[in-house]
Amino acid sequence: MADLFQNYIDGTWQAAATGKTFASRNPASFQDVVGHFPASGPADVDDAVAAAQRAFDGWSSTPAPERGRILKRIGDLLLARKDDLADAMTREMGKPLSETRGDVQEAIDTAYYAASETRRLFGHTVPSELPDKFNMSIRRPVGVCGIITAWNFPVAVPTWKIFPAIASGNTVVFKPSEESPHCGALLLQVFADAGLPAGVVNLVQGDGTVGGALVEHPSVDAISFTGSTEVGTKIGETCGRLNKKLSLEMGGKNPMIVMEDADLDLALEGVLWGAYGTTGQRCTATSRLIVHEDVHDKLVSRIQEAAEDLTLGDGREDGVDVGPLINEDALKKVQSYMEIGPDEGATLVFGGDTPDDPTLDDGYFFQPTLFTDVTPNMRLAQEEIFGPVLSVLTVSSYEEAVEVANNTDYGLSSSIYTENVRNAFRAMHDLEAGITYVNGPTIGAEAHMPFGGVKGTGNGHRDGGWEVFDFYTETKTVYVDYSGQLQKAQMDNAPD
Ligand code: NAD
Repeated sequence: MADLFQNYIDGTWQAAATGKTFASRNPASFQDVVGHFPASGPADVDDAVAAAQRAFDGWSSTPAPERGRILKRIGDLLLARKDDLADAMTREMGKPLSETRGDVQEAIDTAYYAASETRRLFGHTVPSELPDKFNMSIRRPVGVCGIITAWNFPVAVPTWKIFPAIASGNTVVFKPSEESPHCGALLLQVFADAGLPAGVVNLVQGDGTVGGALVEHPSVDAISFTGSTEVGTKIGETCGRLNKKLSLEMGGKNPMIVMEDADLDLALEGVLWGAYGTTGQRCTATSRLIVHEDVHDKLVSRIQEAAEDLTLGDGREDGVDVGPLINEDALKKVQSYMEIGPDEGATLVFGGDTPDDPTLDDGYFFQPTLFTDVTPNMRLAQEEIFGPVLSVLTVSSYEEAVEVANNTDYGLSSSIYTENVRNAFRAMHDLEAGITYVNGPTIGAEAHMPFGGVKGTGNGHRDGGWEVFDFYTETKTVYVDYSGQLQKAQMDNAPD
């Protein structure tokens, strides 16, 4: 019998008001039920928001460095539980242990980074136009923040949002993905064990309707969302109507450019990791390889050779490189492109099917796949597939490479492999993306660097880096007049 888990509201674990639950399953072996979780509804969202509101005054007036000390303890506990968390994450969402350890490490780095920023949550002092007057801006927390996330980085991505939110003095209602509720519950247990006061972070499990109730809730002041462009756009419409602060991090169709002068060994490593790591289920996955015609054939045959050595399987087993897709819908979606691609004129070079291995029949596995002869407007080159499918497009110049790379509605990550320093520097400016790597894959993030996209990927905010604190704080302008005089009079007498 799989364990029964609860919501975490106001410092206590509790069932959904309706008593209903849903199951989370291991995508590598769907007979394996990870646990049962509350199928929450609007009443649970109301309770969680009320708890966050009650906790706000105490938490926002706690000195920021004290909030930082608690964040430091959270980081220490995440470090102590790193292997257990990684194991649970692999079981629940499939990526291999080496990747889930990296996911937890990202959360640890974010905890320590956010803790350090609590000693730097400064505004500005600004010279006044007038004598004996002092101008400054200070940062204030926003209030109750609703945090809604995807399943592919089920520990790192929620902490990119929760840690700067609470470092800044906000309180939080967190709705993890229904595909990774166990990771959400384990994260909340860490916060509780680290001594985070009741109500500062509340957990409400459930599907998109729960996320929808959180977005609509009148007492939620800000929403930070990571997920698909389709859902993010809907949330954007609601937040626009309600005048609610909103940060959106959505899908990607990330290009990797490989020029004729590139170090092909390096590029090969980058392609394999970027396209097939996390089974292609990263917002930053390399899904378009834009390669110069002079090195196209050589690179494609080297990718094919190397991809044959990738081992598919349960990510908790030694030697596994590529885990399963998250669920049956994801598998069906990836399979649909195996018809769409050839129908549009693309050539399937390798992969294209579920693995011919009966030991993997219980999971949602799909072979690493590569298409050539892809042209810029094909669906293979435009749509986020979110699976281990790489589309190769051929170009004959740097200018053409950039034009093809930018020919998408998305703008999250991008990369260029070149030994030509001029083109490397031009690409930093020319590629329409929130992130550009030079001689590195499209994937990977550091906690103290801003993370986010342009165009259809985002709405101008960033997770990570100092920039994330701009979202979780409001700037208040303060004028202090110590002249003892009516400023109007001084204004009138001021020289032009
Ligand atoms: P999704 O959009 O289906 O779901 C994301 C979250 O939104 C889940 O918690 C879900 O329950 C919730 N949700 C669904 N409908 C909702 C609604 N109407 N109102 C409020 N909440 C709702 O995405 P997914 O399948 O979980 O994740 C995959 C997507 O996430 C991909 O498109 C990927 O590119 C994107 N992603 C982006 C980033 C980034 O930083 N840009 C990072 C990871 C994943």
